[in-house]
Amino acid sequence: DSVGFAIIGLGGYALNQMMPRFDQADRAHISALVSGNPDKLSQVGEAYGVPEDARYAYEDFAKIAADDRIQAVYIVLPTAFHADFAIRAFAAGKHVLCEKPMALSSAECEAMIAAARRAGRKLMIAYRSHFEPYNVEAMRLMREKAVGDIRLIRSEQSYRAGPTTPAQNWRMNRALAGGGPLEDFGIYGLQSALYLTDEMPESISATTFQPRDDPRFTEIFAHVASQWRFPSGAVAHLATSYDSVNANFAHVRGTQGALIMDPATSYAGQKMRIEGQNARDVTPGDPTVQFARQLNHFTNAIRDGTPILTGGEMGLRDTRLIEAIYAAARDGRTVKLMPDGRMRG
Ligand code: NAD
Repeated sequence: DSVGFAIIGLGGYALNQMMPRFDQADRAHISALVSGNPDKLSQVGEAYGVPEDARYAYEDFAKIAADDRIQAVYIVLPTAFHADFAIRAFAAGKHVLCEKPMALSSAECEAMIAAARRAGRKLMIAYRSHFEPYNVEAMRLMREKAVGDIRLIRSEQSYRAGPTTPAQNWRMNRALAGGGPLEDFGIYGLQSALYLTDEMPESISATTFQPRDDPRFTEIFAHVASQWRFPSGAVAHLATSYDSVNANFAHVRGTQGALIMDPATSYAGQKMRIEGQNARDVTPGDPTVQFARQLNHFTNAIRDGTPILTGGEMGLRDTRLIEAIYAAARDGRTVKLMPDGRMRG
């Protein structure tokens, strides 16, 4: 009962991370490819044993409806194309695993959720940290109050982008990527703040910075920082940048101890420790199982009807928070939020 996937977009993440992991999944296999590059289609098709008649150009995407080797699609394209391909995949009767960030706006997310519902098909957002042993254990530790009551969260996701322009790199292009590092890398910090506290923020204030005269940042922000307050009284400081050296950490400081995750959400090499009471290193398992476990979670939902932890509603929620962060920064005000992440007033 293995689920056949069409991989849409043969870029870095698909080729180097996810596609090699399909073999480790319990009931997923690659049955088709969709790409705009004929050379890549034939090279990758040969490497993965995907027959020629299952290699599609973007223009031929609608033809996947008639291809019963494909039960699901995995969308690994620049963000601007997520909603359109997801909606067309649902129209073709397929299930959708969509890379993060879900889409460029909450309106697009809502359209994707509605399309899934109309088609009676599954929609999952590829938030891999929910399937990664360190983050799963961190969630459990926070639920059992391993650091007491949570008071402060601090998280950063940064790297320094090389010389590039919006024409050369879609991540620098507002129409393709949105505002910049927050959607791309900072979304891991946003997610961590939510799943470590298990709360939604009630208010957000924020700051963005876009340097003048830097060809990398003619369209997007170089840094985005935000400060959140939760109903419990906990406060989070989140920062993300495309122009400072590597960072990928989450710290949770509670009334009895602290949880230190650094690196927090990488592909491999996670490190985690508890400080304070019961100080110890925590080593719950191999982080690289996250890719296959994510596929298993999705295929089990398709085959057995088990619930999806990271569904469209979660992607919508996060997109609303991103919109709130940008609104707070643009207007220089504290934005108040409803429990579903929508802005009040
Ligand atoms: P990439 O630039 O390496 O690949 C993008 C692919 O899209 C390329 O094959 C490119 O040819 C194709 N494409 C189609 N139309 C395009 C257009 N108009 N402009 C640019 N490229 C176009 O990017 P990536 O790092 O593979 O990212 C793809 C998706 O995967 C994004 O949604 C990204 O956020 C996500 N991603 C997720 C993770 C993760 O850890 N979950 C990591 C990296 C990327």
